[in-house]
Amino acid sequence: MTKYFYVLVLLTVFISGDVFAQSAPKRNSSFTISYSYLGEGTSYQTPFYILKAKKKHPRIMIDAGIHGDEIAGMYACDSILQYLQLIEGTVILVPAVNIQAVMKNTRGVNIDLNQVFPGKKDGPHYEDSLAYDFMELVKELEPDVVINLHEAWTKFDEKYYERKNDMSFGQTLITNSETFSDYLINARDRMNSYIADSTKHFRIQYFPYKPNHSMDNIIEKLKIPSYTCETLRTLNLSERINYMIDVILSFLEETGIEYYYGDPKD
Ligand SMILES: [Zn+2]
Repeated sequence: MTKYFYVLVLLTVFISGDVFAQSAPKRNSSFTISYSYLGEGTSYQTPFYILKAKKKHPRIMIDAGIHGDEIAGMYACDSILQYLQLIEGTVILVPAVNIQAVMKNTRGVNIDLNQVFPGKKDGPHYEDSLAYDFMELVKELEPDVVINLHEAWTKFDEKYYERKNDMSFGQTLITNSETFSDYLINARDRMNSYIADSTKHFRIQYFPYKPNHSMDNIIEKLKIPSYTCETLRTLNLSERINYMIDVILSFLEETGIEYYYGDPKD
């Protein structure tokens, strides 16, 4: 785990050019960052971070690494952790949900974590218990919205989607509602306004309810809105990370969280 975060920190130093980077004031003591562990004491123990301003609401939760080889979201969380200065609200980051898969750079170790929600306390695989603990964590922290960061190998294509509707998600925001919420539409418009190349713009994609997915369980069982973002994995990593940062900050803004984003040393 130490090696992983060392690499994260190192890489982040070399990523720049964020559209949100602006003349931010120096970090001050008006907000706090704390961390704890999901699955503390287990083989799948992984850190989560809570960035909290004096005024704690609204609250957003961002998770990445449910699939261990979809890494752009994890690096984006690391940048957020370093450069976000909160004025109002709470941001919860779970950068590497399936840390065993992250360490092996693989989608899943025993089974696909995103196929076993809502999980089981004592299931046959660690993924069952991890899904269960993740649901408990969301319930306990009561975010207003949960954003899941993933990556896909194929860019969204209408024709491809018609033939194979579970294989074409690059550069999309996924909802399980056929009616798109204003919140989602506004967040999409905001992030796309930061992306000069319109071929890389995010589109909203409806994906029907799946009883074993994390997003659908958060919505159905916990009654918390949740959306999934998928960047296109064939793009280079720094570009994908910057899109993920755009996505996170756009959702923060749309949630009503006040922040600065930029290097505190500037
Ligand atoms: Zn995924």
